[in-house]
Amino acid sequence: MIISMRLHATKEEVAQVRARIEEFGYKVHSIEGEERVVIGAIGMGDVTACLESLEAMPQVEKAVRISAPYKFVSKEFRPERTEIKVAGATIGGDEFVVMAGPCSVESEKQILESAEIVAKGGAKLLRGGAFKPRTSPYDFQGLEEEGLKLLAKARTLTGLGIVTEVMSDRDVSLVAEYADVLQIGARNMQNFALLKTLGKCGRPILLKRGLSATVKELLMSAEYIVAHGNPDVMLCERGIRTFETVTRNTCDIGAIAALSEMTHLPVILDPSHAAGKRSLVPALARAGVAVGADGLIVEMHPHPEKAVSDGAQSLDPKQFAKMMADLKPYIALWKQARMAETAATV
Ligand code: PEP
Ligand code: MN
Repeated sequence: MIISMRLHATKEEVAQVRARIEEFGYKVHSIEGEERVVIGAIGMGDVTACLESLEAMPQVEKAVRISAPYKFVSKEFRPERTEIKVAGATIGGDEFVVMAGPCSVESEKQILESAEIVAKGGAKLLRGGAFKPRTSPYDFQGLEEEGLKLLAKARTLTGLGIVTEVMSDRDVSLVAEYADVLQIGARNMQNFALLKTLGKCGRPILLKRGLSATVKELLMSAEYIVAHGNPDVMLCERGIRTFETVTRNTCDIGAIAALSEMTHLPVILDPSHAAGKRSLVPALARAGVAVGADGLIVEMHPHPEKAVSDGAQSLDPKQFAKMMADLKPYIALWKQARMAETAATV
């Protein structure tokens, strides 16, 4: 259930409503907006009786039953966009944010060079995996903590924020020490032990859509993180597995449009893993801007031919600079649309 309080309801009035909901056996979460408090009630109980009782309270404007299994991440629960502040950028607001860097952190030279290139191109965050989820156990598995230290060094030198993957709940506190954003890989989207741990990690999360996950399953995984205490979740479309083989995955642009109707969480497109081929990345990136994503996460390697992972889909420095320059007019239109939307909702 979602309970919307009347404008400017007092703290006592909110407390009375919370107590009533709890009497019916529900757990309560509230979101305090500037003018209005919205309360979410989750759990098992007599919904009809509870709704009737709440609607009889004068401080309650509206109490509705939510049929979608995800609540906190739904637009019904929170109509305003969630804005996530990281490394001087605001993701989910009026700014289109680009995160870029190599698939894996390979060496100090490689990551520092990458950081400089992506910062120059206008990226706000540096990506790079120190823990790598590889399909084969014989492939490069990542530099682990040493990789995290190199990322932190790149942040100190460039001011870029760091986004890097965490694969296991055991490593969450270690990765959170170094990273600004924790990335959850496609293969871990439904690792529920990991998702629960992220609720308390104190860092924003970039949650990638599973290889064969539906949009609703992606939202349910985000719901885990938010329900466990962390509201700062970004969703990432990175292509899904279909019968098509020309691209590595099928870039589900429609999912981005659908997500922006269904959730207040920011949505990021990863055109690199969707395409699997560097020549296709700039076109998909443009599509991401046009469909209203909040940002991109793109693979760029100073020498893609030498990359230990995902070289074929990594842009080289020149291609990255060109993509960023070519995106500018599209981002300007994106910004106009965002500002118009913000103005319309104020
Ligand atoms: C990556 O970002 O390098 C990665 C492994 O992504 P995904 O989990 O989407 O495959
Ligand atoms: Mn990769």
